[in-house]
Amino acid sequence: MIKFLDLQKINMLHQEQIEARLLKAFRSGWYLLGNEVKEFEANLAQYIGCSHAIGVANGLDALRLIFKAYIELGIMQEGDEVIVPANTYIASVLAVTDNNLVPVFVEPDEVTFNIDISKIEAAITPRTKAIMVVHLYGRVVFSEDLIALAEKHNLKIIEDNAQAIGAEWQGVKTGNLGHAAGFSFYPGKNLGALGDAGGVTTNDETLAKTIRALANYGSAQKYVNQYKGLNSRLDEMQAAVLDEKLHFLDAENTRRREIAKYYSRNITNPLITLSQMPEDGKEHVWHIYVIRAAERDRLQQHLADNGIQTLIHYPLPIHHQEAYKEFAHLSLPITEAIHREVLSLPISPVLTDEEVQTVVTVLNGFK
Ligand SMILES: *Cc1c(COP(=O)(O)O)cnc(C)c1O
Repeated sequence: MIKFLDLQKINMLHQEQIEARLLKAFRSGWYLLGNEVKEFEANLAQYIGCSHAIGVANGLDALRLIFKAYIELGIMQEGDEVIVPANTYIASVLAVTDNNLVPVFVEPDEVTFNIDISKIEAAITPRTKAIMVVHLYGRVVFSEDLIALAEKHNLKIIEDNAQAIGAEWQGVKTGNLGHAAGFSFYPGKNLGALGDAGGVTTNDETLAKTIRALANYGSAQKYVNQYKGLNSRLDEMQAAVLDEKLHFLDAENTRRREIAKYYSRNITNPLITLSQMPEDGKEHVWHIYVIRAAERDRLQQHLADNGIQTLIHYPLPIHHQEAYKEFAHLSLPITEAIHREVLSLPISPVLTDEEVQTVVTVLNGFK
């Protein structure tokens, strides 16, 4: 059986190094707000090219805290609008609504699956304060037009970089393209912890300080609370693991790129539409390799019958979720078609050439 993602195998690649770091953190007797987190934050900031990185409890909190900080700083107010992609994981939108901000959905580009930048301006109103871009599936979405639009309307660009650590646009890493970015280190992400973990990067010192305080009960100084904050700290054990795994991230992303290239060159079944390879200036990190098929469910069954595990990212669009019934009236036909037709193939640093070839053979045999 070819697993969609073999987390045990992925972590066992670095067993000795990870176990040594865990043991060190355990034996230190210091489990929160210590040196492991400090070290990981410094290394993450350096890797992304940003001046600030803040470890937090998970990816959703990373995004929530960015908006919460902008509200504390008076840059946004409850009721303000945030442009969000209609095609994304629900966490991107939860971060907006949790702060009593209003998400305004914009359809994706049919080919890239990411927000269609040419459709953003029509969605901007006097209440719009930010554009959230999500580098979905590890695919970079950014452009000069987007920067110009944000400048013209005085909008913050917030990146949901949960799926795209290591990706680049014009030689700059995602997470350093907008005003602030949220990262998830959920175990299955390209840089995965052994539990929940997340981070924020930014070049804005005031924002960074506010987020750091908000994530620690609204306190920058012990028992002095400036804001009504949350408890959203990254712990020392997770930080130690992440700091160690960061060394291997580029090599693992390179392997993902090799697999994506192989799929794109060798899957030739006319019933299947492939993921577009990156345009000039973009380096994707292929968190997920998505194909489209009109008969998606039958194709998924065919793969399962041949021992290949696949997943659907995502089966139900956000505006059709019960949690967001207030958006049920929206018509977002591109988003809806994508949710009906996408299928995610196995892709990971531990997938062998032979397994990748088997996936291709089985896909090409689908009639
Ligand atoms: C995983 C993910 C998140 C949330 O991260 P958690 O660590 O699970 O809270 C947010 N946005 C996107 C696009 C994600 O894939």
